Amino acid sequence: MHLARYPRRFIAHLPTPLERLDRLSKELGGPEIWIKRDDCTGLSTGGNKTRKLEFLMAEAELQDADVVITQGATQSNHARQTAAFAAKLGIQCHILLEDRTGSNDANYKNNGNVLLDHLHGATTETRPGGLDMNAEMEAVAERMRAEGKKVYTIPGGGSNATGALGYVNCAFELLGQANDRGLRIDRLVHATGSAGTQAGLITGLKATNANIPLLGIGVRAPKAKQEENVYNLAVKTAEKLGCPGVVAREDVVANTDYVGDGYGIPTEGGMEAIRMFAELESILLDPVYSAKGAAGLIDLIRKGHFDKEERVVFLHTGGAAALFGYDAAFDFSGRWVAS
Ligand SMILES: *Cc1c(COP(=O)(O)O)cnc(C)c1O
Repeated sequence: MHLARYPRRFIAHLPTPLERLDRLSKELGGPEIWIKRDDCTGLSTGGNKTRKLEFLMAEAELQDADVVITQGATQSNHARQTAAFAAKLGIQCHILLEDRTGSNDANYKNNGNVLLDHLHGATTETRPGGLDMNAEMEAVAERMRAEGKKVYTIPGGGSNATGALGYVNCAFELLGQANDRGLRIDRLVHATGSAGTQAGLITGLKATNANIPLLGIGVRAPKAKQEENVYNLAVKTAEKLGCPGVVAREDVVANTDYVGDGYGIPTEGGMEAIRMFAELESILLDPVYSAKGAAGLIDLIRKGHFDKEERVVFLHTGGAAALFGYDAAFDFSGRWVAS
């Protein structure tokens, strides 16, 4: 597969490091846990959306867009990385933020990713939860087009076949690192939301016959819906790459037992994961995505889901900027207070 055939705006700090987590592995008594540091992609505190935006923003530039519009939840990491990428390219960025949690906390509404959206010069408007946000975005785009603007719209999470190419690339990158270091990888685990990360990864892993089972830990949708979303996008991604049919439905596996009360609502398991990663490995997780992914990883390890001898890679998808919008979820000693 030949990713150089697709337009790409190189901006991410790649390859991201692949590191062994000795203290966390010891604490849990095996398997051997490694981490792929996509929290270190470099753009405005990093995260997984930067890889997708390399392909999406290249398309926007090719189309001579003068505005990009995207949408996400209030503390969207995707929105923040889009705002930063657009600033770097000198393209205006407009963001629709959906109030999915109903939180009135001042830091949730204005700090963390929201602060960074504005620092990068993006304009934002808000919507109540539960609307069809891609439709809301298209309506705004139509208004701007009527004013003569060239608008490029990016779906929530940057999750279409173009954005997913970024995670096909990540699969290649990870395999290259493993092969260079003689490192057999038995499992790959990560947080899955708008599906582009998992769809790109599974397409890249299957197309290269890597034989690494991939597990997405859900943060929003129920299992059947999440797997369907990922599978449908993987099918489109494989078609775009010229290898239709490489991904089978059973290759797409999501575990949605760690969503808790809903998208963006912290869970006890997630807060424990934040503490463990911070105290044992000095790695920052976020309560919305990576902490729930890590909570799933930790719980599955405790339940004996993985062999002690296996080598499990956790893909850190980023998100730590959201911590500053979620400070109310911690007490002063950094401990979760059940509300
Ligand atoms: C968006 C996001 C995810 C989920 O990735 P998708 O491609 O949307 O499934 C995971 N972690 C973080 C920190 C994110 O911002």
